[in-house]
Amino acid sequence: MTIDYGATIAEIAQELAEKTNHGKVPSYIPELAKVDRNRFGICLTTIEGDRYMYGDSNVKFSIQSISKVLSLTMAISLQGQESLWKRVGVEPSGNPFNSIVQLEYENGIPRNPFINAGAIVIADILVSQLQHPKQEFLAYVRGLCNNPDINYNRQVAQSEKSVGYMNASLAYMMKDKGNLINEVDEVLDFYYLQCSLEMTCVELVDAFRNFGDTGVPFGHGAYFLTSSQARRVNALMMTCGFYDESGEFAFEVGLPGKSGVGGAIVALLPEKYCVSVWSPPLNKKGNSYMGMMALERLTTKIEGSIF
Ligand code: GLU
Repeated sequence: MTIDYGATIAEIAQELAEKTNHGKVPSYIPELAKVDRNRFGICLTTIEGDRYMYGDSNVKFSIQSISKVLSLTMAISLQGQESLWKRVGVEPSGNPFNSIVQLEYENGIPRNPFINAGAIVIADILVSQLQHPKQEFLAYVRGLCNNPDINYNRQVAQSEKSVGYMNASLAYMMKDKGNLINEVDEVLDFYYLQCSLEMTCVELVDAFRNFGDTGVPFGHGAYFLTSSQARRVNALMMTCGFYDESGEFAFEVGLPGKSGVGGAIVALLPEKYCVSVWSPPLNKKGNSYMGMMALERLTTKIEGSIF
């Protein structure tokens, strides 16, 4: 069947219009609490490069945890997988994104790179490996989207740092267990800045679409994944991309993807399309309430999940 992606995403947006009062904009990062909850954008790009947009798809937002996929890909390209997976696991955690409980009895080895503890270890690797981590990571992300207009929001990073007690606890616990090489403050400064990256729905699909295209390697500059590495990152997005709601996302939507507390989700069907949705109010697990619903409707309507 020929799919009219443009009409489908417009239809979904209209169906969801009356749901905008569900969910809560996160308040634990003060700057994020100021975002307009009524924003809503979708962008879908097919693997052939046809692009469909709806609503606020060109408005910048804080990508937060979605940055964890990009820091992971850069770290894998820099040092390969073998030593990296000794410091971070590849299992869903079944716990909230900032949980500390498993770290204590799993010897400071986070369950996966997409919970906060895992992303802090990946940040530690980038801080060790790069000469100018903040500048080089930004250049990498800009290169992935072929777009120099991508920046950190230092006010958001500062806002998160000012209340970042839990992330500091995770980092100190890992430092104590010998799984953090650099000083805690240096690693967290980098971590908060990577999370503060601002992108649009369009820029997110530009950055992520090559995960789904085995003909074009994922990466930029000196940093490229092999296709086997890209498939593994896809597997991690599938199993761990939505915190303790990863099973639910696989069940409802059926795509590898990643969410962030800024209210965005990016997901893809390999060899077919990449899609991103932004709607700031979050459900109880920290994933975009409308984003989850929009993607469930998309994969149902077009019969386009990986299953
Ligand atoms: N910067 C956020 C934190 O560390 C990221 C959380 C998220 O997007 O899930 O809490």
